[in-house]
Amino acid sequence: MTKEHQSSSRSEGFVRSDLENELKAVFERLPHPVSVYLVAGRAGEDVLSRAARELIRGFQGLSDRIRVTEVEPRDDLARKWKVNSIPTFLFDPEHYSIRYLGVPFGEEARTLLGILILLGYRSGNLTEQSARVLQRIDTPRRIKVFVSATCPYCPEQAMNAARAAMEKPDLISVEIIDIQSNQEMANRYSAFSVPQVFANEVLIAQGAQSEELFMLSLEKMEQQTLFIPESDSEEVETDLLIVGGGPAGLTAGIYAVRSGLKTAIVEKGPLGGQIATTPVVENYPGFTRVPGKALVDILASHALEYVQIFPGEEVVEVRPGNPIRIRTTRRRFKAGAVILATGATYRRLGVPGEMELAGRGVSYCATCDGTLFKGKKVLVVGGGNSALTEALYLSNIGVSVTLVHRRDAFRAQEHLVKNVAANRIPVLWDTEVKEIRGREQVTQAKLVNRKTGETTWTDTDGVFVAIGYVPTVDLARKLGVEVTPDGFIRHDAHHRTNIPGIYSAGDVEGGYKQIVTAMAQGTEAALSVYEDLTHPYWKQEGAPPG
Ligand code: NAP
Repeated sequence: MTKEHQSSSRSEGFVRSDLENELKAVFERLPHPVSVYLVAGRAGEDVLSRAARELIRGFQGLSDRIRVTEVEPRDDLARKWKVNSIPTFLFDPEHYSIRYLGVPFGEEARTLLGILILLGYRSGNLTEQSARVLQRIDTPRRIKVFVSATCPYCPEQAMNAARAAMEKPDLISVEIIDIQSNQEMANRYSAFSVPQVFANEVLIAQGAQSEELFMLSLEKMEQQTLFIPESDSEEVETDLLIVGGGPAGLTAGIYAVRSGLKTAIVEKGPLGGQIATTPVVENYPGFTRVPGKALVDILASHALEYVQIFPGEEVVEVRPGNPIRIRTTRRRFKAGAVILATGATYRRLGVPGEMELAGRGVSYCATCDGTLFKGKKVLVVGGGNSALTEALYLSNIGVSVTLVHRRDAFRAQEHLVKNVAANRIPVLWDTEVKEIRGREQVTQAKLVNRKTGETTWTDTDGVFVAIGYVPTVDLARKLGVEVTPDGFIRHDAHHRTNIPGIYSAGDVEGGYKQIVTAMAQGTEAALSVYEDLTHPYWKQEGAPPG
C-alpha cells in the first residue's frame, strides 16, 4: 500500500524554531516540488523504519514543496525499483536514480537536505570545472558511497555523487549507504572507513575529495589526488587570502575582516580541521564538554558572519610577488598577503599492511569509523591525548579496546589517563605494532615488546592509529617557504615566513598544538598582516611608545 502524506503540523519540535523558519524559507523558494519515496517497514515493525519515517515527515511538515510517499517493501513499486534494503529513500525516482539506504541522522542530515535542495532546482549545480570532466563520461557508472552519521567528511562526498547523478541521469546512478544500518553490505565491500566510494564495484575514492577530484576519479575509475583546472576562470581580488579553514584560519579570518582587511579563506576539505573529528573537547575554555564537530559549527558560523569562505577548493599554486597570485582548483585570487594555516595530517605507522588495509580495518578517525567496530576488538596505537581520547570514545560506544603504547607511561593529560584507568581499558606498555595482516580486512597485528623483544601475533578486527600529526607543508615547500628540521614552517614572532607577504599560523608552525594556541597564532598572524599592509601610525618610526 502506498500513501502520500499531507503536510501538517508534524514538524512541531522537529528542529529548533529558528532553523525551522530558515528551512521553511529555503523550501518555499524551490522552483520545483520534490518527490521522495520512502520504502520502510510497517509502523512498529523496525526501529530504523520508524526513525526514517519520522525524519522525512519532519521535513515534509515544513513545506508542501516536499512530497513524500511511503511505500511498503512488498508493494509493486518497491519491487519495480528493486529495493532490497529497509529503509530506503528514493529521490524523484521517475527522473533520477538517487537512493539513500538507512537513516540520514547526524551529519547525514546535511546530505538529505542537500539532495532535497538540488532536486528542487533540478540541477546538480556543478562547478564549471567539474561539469567539463563529467561531460567526458560516456559509459554507465553505478556509484555506491558508504557514509556514517558521525563522519563530517561524508556529506560532501555523498553530495558529489548526487550531483553527478543529477547531471547525467541516463548514465549515473547512486546509492548512499549508511554503514550503521547496512553493516552486512559494508562488510561485503570491506568498507571499514568512511567515506568510501565504489563505481561499478571498483573502489574509486577513500576519504574526502573536492567536487572536481571526485568527478575526475569517477571518470578515470581510480582515486585521483591532483586536479589542475583546464582553464582559468574568475579572479577574486582580496587583501588577504587564508589557506586552511581550521581554528587558526577561521580565527585569522574573523580578526582580519574586523581589522578592515578584505579577506577570503580557501579550504580544500570540510571546515574545522582536526577538531571536526575529535569526539569530545574538554579543554576549550567556556565549554566543559563539547563534541568537536559542534565546536566547529559554532566557530564556522561565527567566521561566516565576517569572512568569505571557499570550501571544497584546493590551492594548487601560489606565486609570490606584489600582488601575490594564487590559483585554486576553481578560480584565481590576487592578494596582498597569504596566511598558510594548512594544519597537519595524521602520522602513519609505516609498517607492512598499514597502507594495504587502510579503510579495511586500519583507521585514523575513531569518530568517523568507530561505529562499524561495535562489539568488535580493536587496538588503539599511541600514548598521547589523541590516542586516549579515541580509546575512550570507542570504549564508550561499545568497542572492545586495547591501547598499545611504545613506552611505559602516557604523555597525555592526567584527566584522560585517569579516565582510561577508570574505564578499565587494557594497555600494552612498551609495545609496538610492527605489522598488520588480513586479506579482505584486518585480522591480526604483530606486536613486539621493546623491553623483552618478545613477538606475538594478536587477533584484532581493527587498528586505530593515533600517533600524532605531521605538518602539512607541501604547498609551503613548493613556493619556497623555509621549514625547520622538524618540518614546521619557520616564522618570526609576527608569523612572517622568509617570503614577503607569506605568513603562517596554527599547527603548521609547531608548538603546543591546542585549539586555543592555534586560534592565538591565527589572531597574531592576522593582526601582523594588517599592520604590514596598512602601516598604521603606531607602527611608524617615531610613533610614541604604548
Ligand atoms: P602526540 O602528543 O604527538 O602523541 C603521539 C603519541 O604517539 C606519543 O605517545 C608517541 O610516542 C606515539 N608515537 C609517535 N610515533 C609513533 C610510532 N611511529 N609508533 C608508535 N607510537 C608512536 O600526538 P597526539 O596525541 O595526536 O596529539 C597531537 C597534539 O594535539 C598534541 O599537542 C596534543 O596535546 C593535542 N591534542 C590535545 C587534546 C586534548 O587537549 N584533549 C586531544 C587531542 C590532541 P612517544 O610518547 O614515545 O613519543
